[in-house]
Amino acid sequence: MNLKELYQEIILDHGKNPRNLRKTDNFNKDAKGHNPLCGDKVHVYLKLNENKKVEDISFEGQGCAISMASASIMTGLVKGKEEKEVKEIIKDFLEMIKEKESLNSKLLEEDEKTKLMCLSGVKQYPMRVKCATLSWHTLISAIDKSQNEINIESEEI
Ligand code: ZN
Repeated sequence: MNLKELYQEIILDHGKNPRNLRKTDNFNKDAKGHNPLCGDKVHVYLKLNENKKVEDISFEGQGCAISMASASIMTGLVKGKEEKEVKEIIKDFLEMIKEKESLNSKLLEEDEKTKLMCLSGVKQYPMRVKCATLSWHTLISAIDKSQNEINIESEEI
């Protein structure tokens, strides 16, 4: 199996069977995101404890395989990390999707980087980039409580 096939396999797996697709009990942060270009919708729920660590994260929503896989992979990576670490990972991922060759964050394990790199194939397709980044922008919005509902069409990515 070559790298491209491996990446597709992982996306298909997460797209079909998204992890953390549920609503967190007693969440204290949440936000909704919408990508009208494709029809993807996500609602991200976050439970931060008193040390600003992500005790639980989950999402509800529906959309294409890429948007669901991205939300599934993202929620898996962020759980157990501190808020500032989460922000660093989000920044690293968004930069990679936009322009960088690879991920630089030392907070990510090799297998976690592999999962994120699966989404790097969308780079050539601006429409698909919005599918891949929807849940990530929604997570930023939930953490900062900047907007209750974001529309990715108007987000600068
Ligand atoms: Zn989509």
